[in-house]
Order: sequence, then C-alpha cells, then structure tokens
Amino acid sequence: MNKNQSTGLLFELSRAGRRCHQIDGVLRNDASHAIPQRFLADAPVPLPELGELDIVRHYTNLSSRNMAIDTHFYPLGSCTMKYNPKRHERMVSDHHFADLHPLQPASTCQGMLSVLHEMEMMLAEIAGLHACSLQPSAGAQGELTALLVAAAYFRHRGEHRTKVLIPDSAHGTNPASAVLAGFEAVTVKSTPDGMVDIEDFTRKLDDSIAVFMITNPNTLGLFEGQITRIADMVHARGGLVYLDGANMNAILGIARPGDFGADMMHYNVHKTFTGPHGAGGPGSGPIAVRSMLEPFLPVPRVVKRDGHYILADERPLSIGRVRSFHGNIGVLLRGYFYIRTLGPEGLANVSRHAVLNARYLRSLLLGKLDMAGSDNCLHEFVASLKNLRRERRVSAMDVAKRLLDYGYHAPTVYFPLVVPEALMMEPTETEGPETLEAFAETLIKILGEDPEMLRTAPHTLSISRPDEVKATKEPVLRWIAG
Ligand SMILES: *Cc1c(COP(=O)(O)O)cnc(C)c1O
Repeated sequence: MNKNQSTGLLFELSRAGRRCHQIDGVLRNDASHAIPQRFLADAPVPLPELGELDIVRHYTNLSSRNMAIDTHFYPLGSCTMKYNPKRHERMVSDHHFADLHPLQPASTCQGMLSVLHEMEMMLAEIAGLHACSLQPSAGAQGELTALLVAAAYFRHRGEHRTKVLIPDSAHGTNPASAVLAGFEAVTVKSTPDGMVDIEDFTRKLDDSIAVFMITNPNTLGLFEGQITRIADMVHARGGLVYLDGANMNAILGIARPGDFGADMMHYNVHKTFTGPHGAGGPGSGPIAVRSMLEPFLPVPRVVKRDGHYILADERPLSIGRVRSFHGNIGVLLRGYFYIRTLGPEGLANVSRHAVLNARYLRSLLLGKLDMAGSDNCLHEFVASLKNLRRERRVSAMDVAKRLLDYGYHAPTVYFPLVVPEALMMEPTETEGPETLEAFAETLIKILGEDPEMLRTAPHTLSISRPDEVKATKEPVLRWIAG
C-alpha cells in the first residue's frame, strides 16, 4: 500500500479550521433563525474538518480496497455474483423512472405500473405459477411473506397446522422465516449424496405439516430427482410446497417450480436477475404463488381495470403490507430489463452456461479437492476440506483468506452446514474459460503451500484477520470525538 493512502478515519484526518472550497454567498445562508431555540445544539457538532482533496482521496482509496464483481472473480456460492450490466444502470436512472414518487396518484404513473404488472406476469410464467407479489425486499422477506400467506390460507380453511419441514442442507433463513411466521421448524435429514432422506421425510410428514420448504437445485448444486414424488406426498397430506428460489440461475427457462410441484416460491432478483448486491443490499425477493393462494398476497396489488392500472387494496383476505410502497423498484427494474433483453431462449441459455461453467470449474479441481455430492452438479458445487484440515491443519477459512492474496474473492465457506469445511463455488455464466482456469490453477497452488502461509493469510491486504464476531458482539455505532 502506498504510504500516502491513509487508513485513518475522517475524524483522525481532521485539522481545525480546514475547509472545502466555499463559493461566496452560496453556503452562507444560516437557517438557524427558523429553528426553535430549544432544538438548537449548545455547541457546533464535532464534524471532521477537511479539504476537498483530502475527502476525495480518502473515499477513492477506500473504494479501491474492495473486492467487487467489477474488479475480481467472485465465485461466492449460492449468492450468484454475476455481472451487473452497465446498460441497466443507465436505463434505471432515466428520469421517467428515477423521478417518480411512490405517493403520486396511479393515474400519473401508468408506465411504471405497466412495467411492474408485466414483471409480475413474467415472474409468474418463469415460476409456472399464477400470481406474484413484488413487495418483499429480499429472499428472506419473500420466505416470510409466503409463509404468512400459507398461514392465512390454512386459517381461512379452518385447518390447524403448526410445522414447517426443512431439509438440513437449507439456508439458515428458511427455519428463521418459519419461526417468525409462527411455525415450528422441523429438520429433515439429507442422504450422503445430498438428497432428501425419503425415509426421514416420510416419518416426519403428517397432518400437522403446513409447508415443506425445499431449495431445488439444493445448496450442493444438485437437482432433487424425487421432487415430484415428494411434492405429491406433501399434497396428499394437505400441505403446501415452498421453493427457495435462490438457485433459479440453474433452471431458468428449463424447469418451472410450479411444474415440479411447488405451490409458492421466492426469487432473489439481486442474484438471478443481476441486481448489483453485496454487503447486505439492496435486494428484491418477489414471491409467486398458485391461484388458491392469490387472495392472501400483500396489498396493494397492481391490477389492470378498464385499460388502466390501479393499486388495489380492497382485498379482505390479504395479509396486508409487508413493506412501504411497492418493493425495491430499482432492483426490480434491473431485473425487468434483463428478462426483456434476453427473452425466453436467452434466459434458458443463462442457465445452460451457468451449469457449463460450474461443471468445467469442478472438472478442473476434480482429484485435487474432495467433492461433496454426486458428479451431476448444476450451477454450483461444494468441496470439503475435511481431510486437508485433518492432515495439514489447514481450514476452509485459511484457503479462503489465502485466495484474497491472489486477487480472488473467496468462495462461500462453511455452508451448507451438512458439509464439513465446505467451500462452495458458483462461477456464474458470465465468466470466460480463462478466468476459471486461472482460478483453478491458483487454488491448486494454494493447497500445496506451506500451511503456516495459509493460516496467517491474507498477507497483502491492509486488514488481515479481523475478529469475526466482535462487530456483532460489541458494535460501535457512533464516533465520540475527542
Ligand atoms: C441468498 C439466499 C437466501 C436469502 O436471500 P436474501 O435475498 O439474502 O435474503 C435464501 N436461501 C438461499 C439458498 C440463498 O442463497
């Protein structure tokens, strides 16, 4: 790192009296006379005092210390870190979209409402389901919303069902959503090759089961071959099947969840449909449902009546709102542009190429890493470093950290929980073969390095091994100056 690139906080760089450029008369308007005396601070707020160039350098240097899909290969499994087309950024900032206010009357934003309506129909079609709500802000909120819809459905039918069945390979948000929606989460075992253990499933399936939640392809990147049989068994007991759609990148335009038995699902628009994401946001997690569940979807719904779009909220069975306004429109629009640009055949090619890339990368690593699950991976695969840990005392975390030194974002580690020392890799469809080859070569090289080199990695970044839980256990939410 260049010595001039300070790692300090703006507050530490502050020098009394230092100022940015000030244009005479422009920034001098003192509005304090308009504020009642009792709301005024006793002393000026202790803001850092800096020159403009200090600020520009500070933020520009910080931004260059990040790993992003625009700068580095980012094979983060399950998260689908695919290229975010720059064209979408230009289109979404068009003032016809960007200058709308969510509170303006529906009659003045017919264009936007038609886009949202069309987006709902396209997502329902890709799902093989009937209706869609764009409101949920992320996959996890989509899960919760759909489970609240399921709860309302059973309540309406006078059925008392208390449990949600979830395979042990599921994402942690699945059981969390089930509990938040008032259900008990019951775990179903996986077989050694990563499929639902039908025996365990059959034992736990009874009339108290409201929903069976499944990720398909699952978090090992494997398609559940028995899915229609499993769905039939759930339906025979009067339960509903929920599909966690985080892995839709593997099956877009090729298999529809509604056709293989799902009654409801969520999408992660920020994963599958190119919303730029990372560091926790922004997201969009629309849900699609079968027709009998539609009356329970959140309000307001975008409805076309007499040739005009309206926002309808007179729906007595609806679970109500799950967030303000109509969803994360900026992310939804990017997804809409993506789907409209590619069309049905283009979307199917996304999945074909995503699967091809994952299988190619897996084949390059085969024999060098122990793989979890069978050979038929779809868009992602999982390796286990269990043996490496035992033989050389090197963990999945050590390998992930060492990859940073070589300019690669780490794969997902320690997920799914059913694989010890898991490294989960999802290259996505937008990478070329040279990138995958270079990554595989680097990973293989790292596996042969001195274990001490790995245990102390990364060596080239300004921060090496931060305490992984300190930030949540002891959050520092404000800077107290001086
Ligand atoms: C990402 C993910 C989720 C949660 O989605 P968010 O949009 O992050 O809330 C759920 N399940 C799986 C399998 C995921 O990968």
